[in-house]
Amino acid sequence: MLRLPDPVLLVLVGASGSGKSHWAGEHFRPEQVVSSDRLRAVVGEGPRDLEASADAFDLLERIVAARLGRRLTTVVDTLGFDDERRAAWLRLAVAHGMPCVAVAFDTEPAECRRRNAARGPADRLSQAVLTAQLKRYTQVRVGLAVEGFTDVVTPQPVRVVPAAFTPAAA
Ligand code: ATP
Ligand code: MG
Repeated sequence: MLRLPDPVLLVLVGASGSGKSHWAGEHFRPEQVVSSDRLRAVVGEGPRDLEASADAFDLLERIVAARLGRRLTTVVDTLGFDDERRAAWLRLAVAHGMPCVAVAFDTEPAECRRRNAARGPADRLSQAVLTAQLKRYTQVRVGLAVEGFTDVVTPQPVRVVPAAFTPAAA
């Protein structure tokens, strides 16, 4: 069981098919989850429309900034492989006094491949692209521990706990 304070910024990190969106959907309300795939579908032709990526990420950054400005718990659902974006999300959370937790999806590569193969043709990545993602994941994963996140966790069922309990003054 993962005990998370509220509010918190969660940065998901994992290859395609590692279970990021599934986990986010199980434990958070849709409006708490800011997903690059969903925003690509909003401003482009679908979740995999890479030509819509720049617009989708522009929106994603604005939504994350607006939510953190209100100190709302937010889940950033992207691959999480971009070093500069991760660092910027962390800085933003710190600026708003919020903890920032990385969630690392250490799903077996074979399982990611199985899930990818089971997807419809429109959603399925080529083997080469998935292989590149799995390789990139191992690089990013080793560095997460020293990037300054409040914590680096693996996906588990979530329990939200009140932010630091302050005993009443005697
Ligand atoms: P992408 O980066 O492509 O969006 P993702 O990491 O968000 O991938 P999901 O869409 O969450 O991956 O999961 C891929 C598939 O695996 C989905 O069909 C989902 O239902 C299934 N899946 C994910 N997590 C689990 C799980 N814990 N148990 C069983 N099936 C799962
Ligand atoms: Mg997803």
